[in-house]
Amino acid sequence: MSNDLFQSHDYYLVDELLSEEHILVRNTTREWVKREVTPIIEEYAQRAEFPAHLRKGLAEIGAYGPFIPQEYGGAGLDYISYGLMMQEIERGDSGIRSTCSVQSSLVMFPIYKYGSEEQKRKYLPRLASGELLGAFGLTEPNYGSNPGGMVTHFKDMGDHYLLNGSKMWISNAPICDIAIVWAKNEEGRIHGLIVERGMEGFSTPETKNKWSLRASSTGELVFDNVRVPKENLLPGRSGLGAPLSCLDSARYGIAWGAIGVALDCYDTALRYAKQRIQFDKPIAAFQLQQKKLAEMITEITKAQLLAWRLGTLRNEDRATTAQISMAKRNNVEMALRVAREARQILGGMGITGDYPIMRHMMNLESVITYEGTHDIHLLITGADITGIPAFK
Ligand SMILES: Cc1cc2nc3c(=O)[nH]c(=O)nc-3n(C[C@H](O)[C@H](O)[C@H](O)COP(=O)(O)OP(=O)(O)OC[C@H]3O[C@@H](n4cnc5c(N)ncnc54)[C@H](O)[C@@H]3O)c2cc1C
Repeated sequence: MSNDLFQSHDYYLVDELLSEEHILVRNTTREWVKREVTPIIEEYAQRAEFPAHLRKGLAEIGAYGPFIPQEYGGAGLDYISYGLMMQEIERGDSGIRSTCSVQSSLVMFPIYKYGSEEQKRKYLPRLASGELLGAFGLTEPNYGSNPGGMVTHFKDMGDHYLLNGSKMWISNAPICDIAIVWAKNEEGRIHGLIVERGMEGFSTPETKNKWSLRASSTGELVFDNVRVPKENLLPGRSGLGAPLSCLDSARYGIAWGAIGVALDCYDTALRYAKQRIQFDKPIAAFQLQQKKLAEMITEITKAQLLAWRLGTLRNEDRATTAQISMAKRNNVEMALRVAREARQILGGMGITGDYPIMRHMMNLESVITYEGTHDIHLLITGADITGIPAFK
């Protein structure tokens, strides 16, 4: 799909709620995606390959750590700008957005929040410039929705830590330069460690045969007696709350990113429905197709307002974990429904790579599962409103 005809849709004039800076960031990212991502993404997804040459361009548009202060190499933007960037990048492809989310929210965010001054100065500027690419290791083969049960652990050996265990389903793993790894100490307390490629005993085998997020590189992190220098432990926070706070930041970005996918599917379906003639009329003239399109734009509009309000709360440091869960869950499900309806509007053409819908739809099957599954986010809302956690 090299000819990107995408036009955005703003049914409730949400743009009027944005600042000039937000619109500038959004439009710059949109133009970059049209120029750099759309022309190549289908081929990379078909080949199941991450377009590594985009690394530099993503850094240049400020997509790595947009909310990190400029003194550490970030763009110093607010959370609405971050959200809009994720929206535009995911409009291109969820896999590319995943790379940015991991780098920004799951690698730069914990180093910025919980790292020492030396760690911030050593890693953040190089992550922002794209010189280093990061991964975030929380999920394990036997601990997905229940990461607190993790068995990856480290021992204090006096002058270093000895790390053992493995992580699974890790975005960027095969291509990462560093990984934030969550592991238990001898007392069973969870800490974050910065593990660098090249440390002996550290390997990152690739996960093959994915039908989803094919343009994103996924793999394992395996630790076989890895000697981690003591200065690589994140000193600022320990316990499960530390990785979960990073997930809040990433889930927030996903709530926006999903809108990008939905907009792309809706826009494609609307244009197609106006042009495709059946029974001597454009199919857009039939009530059944109008119902699909009308419901799509209604749901997209609701999601835009939800994301904007959440962004405002996050800028004020008032967005709760449960509010973020609600937006991630709602917006991803909304995007998946929009993608499914859009695919039907395109009939047989909807299953081809000539249009982005099928790729988006398959990508969303990962997005609805990672960063907390659809079910888990519902349980987070349930626990929040009743005060009774129903996880076990
Ligand atoms: C492409 C991709 C990229 C990923 N990237 C990363 C990454 O970079 N870093 C990382 O750490 N992880 C990553 N993940 C892992 C992801 O976060 C997990 O897959 C997710 O948390 C779910 O864990 P699981 O797959 O083990 O499923 P499980 O936890 O086994 O869940 C299976 C099913 O059981 C349900 N379930 C589980 N517990 C409950 C309960 N208490 N009540 C009701 N239902 C329940 C779930 O909702 C789900 O439907 C990635 C996953 C994918 C697919």
